[in-house]
Amino acid sequence: MSRCVLIIEDEAAQAQILKYNLESAGFDTLLADNGADGIGQARSKLPDLVLLDWMLPDMSGINVCKTLKGDEDTKAIPVIMLTARGDEDDKVRGLTVGADDYVVKPHSIKELIARIKANLRKSGQDDDILTFSDVTMNIETHRVSRGGDEIKLGPTEFRLLKTLLGRPKKVWSRAQLLDRVWGTDIYVDERTVDVHMGRLRKAINVGGREDLIRTIRGAGYALDKHN
Ligand code: CA
Repeated sequence: MSRCVLIIEDEAAQAQILKYNLESAGFDTLLADNGADGIGQARSKLPDLVLLDWMLPDMSGINVCKTLKGDEDTKAIPVIMLTARGDEDDKVRGLTVGADDYVVKPHSIKELIARIKANLRKSGQDDDILTFSDVTMNIETHRVSRGGDEIKLGPTEFRLLKTLLGRPKKVWSRAQLLDRVWGTDIYVDERTVDVHMGRLRKAINVGGREDLIRTIRGAGYALDKHN
């Protein structure tokens, strides 16, 4: 179970090294080799963090960052800018357009992973524990509880809840949930989301507890209170 990092980097060798190292450290990764694709994937797949190269073929990393931070859907996603340049002016420019952090290449993978974790924590996403209301999920031990009582979930419901807990109150479309929970490689009908959401709702609302899953007609689902 892991956090999803979108790597926007046009140099294929660099991108593969990042992907390999992040996956070895337990992250899921998405790759984009240009700015437009990076923005598109950030919007549709809502990664937990973006690693953004400064120099891209179609637009600058600065403009990608500006776009992500100016969009209601993506502005909360932490962005770490990667640059080969150590120029102080660049650093200031990056932070001015809303980048959350800035790492100069070459960097050690250990340092980069530490920065990724620190930025996930800063954005309210502790590495191991996710909570909303009285629901708690421990990603390390795979335990979920509500008000202190353990809740048993199937693997799909666990991933679904983990995704929802990653961004409470956000409305997720069925297509976004399919991408995040089932992956983009397989075709699954959107109604499958409704089936598993029904199971998840039943499991976490056990004993007549307050319903924490909001269904938004025509839009999708959110982990949220109903009023
Ligand atoms: Ca580049």
